[in-house]
Amino acid sequence: MGKVYLTGAGPGDFELLTIKALRVIQEADIIIYDRLANPDILKEAKKDVEFIYVGKAKGSHSVPQDEINEILYKAALKHESVVRLKGGDNFVFGRGGEEGIYLYDRGISFEVIPGITSSIAVPAYAGIPVTHRGITTSFRVVTGHESANKEVSQIDWSSFTTNETVVFLMGFHNLGKITKNLLKIGKPKDYPCAVISKGTTKDQKVVVGTLSDIVEKSKGLETPALIIVGEVVNLREKLQWN
Ligand code: SAH
Repeated sequence: MGKVYLTGAGPGDFELLTIKALRVIQEADIIIYDRLANPDILKEAKKDVEFIYVGKAKGSHSVPQDEINEILYKAALKHESVVRLKGGDNFVFGRGGEEGIYLYDRGISFEVIPGITSSIAVPAYAGIPVTHRGITTSFRVVTGHESANKEVSQIDWSSFTTNETVVFLMGFHNLGKITKNLLKIGKPKDYPCAVISKGTTKDQKVVVGTLSDIVEKSKGLETPALIIVGEVVNLREKLQWN
């Protein structure tokens, strides 16, 4: 029986891959992966490695999570070294916990190799620190994905009234809803906000605006993209290095 490595691929820039992740990728017998911000990582694998893509293809759905769990389990029965590669970090909106529990329940050993999460690294490459002394004492990472047919939001919008930095992942298609909700709870119209597309890659694009104009300004940006809201966005004026 083999071992499964729940491995973070980092946010995009190849060199933000950890040394440990690189080693297990190079040693893997099989790699099960999603859409990655940097597919070059896969070139590091052995020549005879088996690849299974379980991410979203254009115009179709991704493989359901319970099927992915089963693929990991079966792979571990057959191969010695199984790498489950995920963008950023597996435990930050990466469903790594579910995969680990599934394997645990079936007696399969696994290791977790944290990756650099896009929620911090992508703002950093745009010159935006998620915390800054004197500006904010905390930050949080929130899913911006909400199914269109949900009448009541799962997000507790009333809890966003502080000056905490908020990073929304998977929320670009919902940007209009997000800014509307933040304005509704009393955030100022000129509250700073940025959208960063393909962060840490050579195609990175950063759009800076406010809660009232960011939707218009960021039209046409490509995914993956994240949204960052907070006074820290203004620090980019001096911290933009990239
Ligand atoms: N586990 C991942 C996040 C998965 S959710 C991590 O830790 O980074 C996927 C979301 O992450 C995307 O919808 C987008 O909001 C964000 N994201 C991932 N890579 C990104 C990148 N290179 N640039 C901008 N946003 C990115």
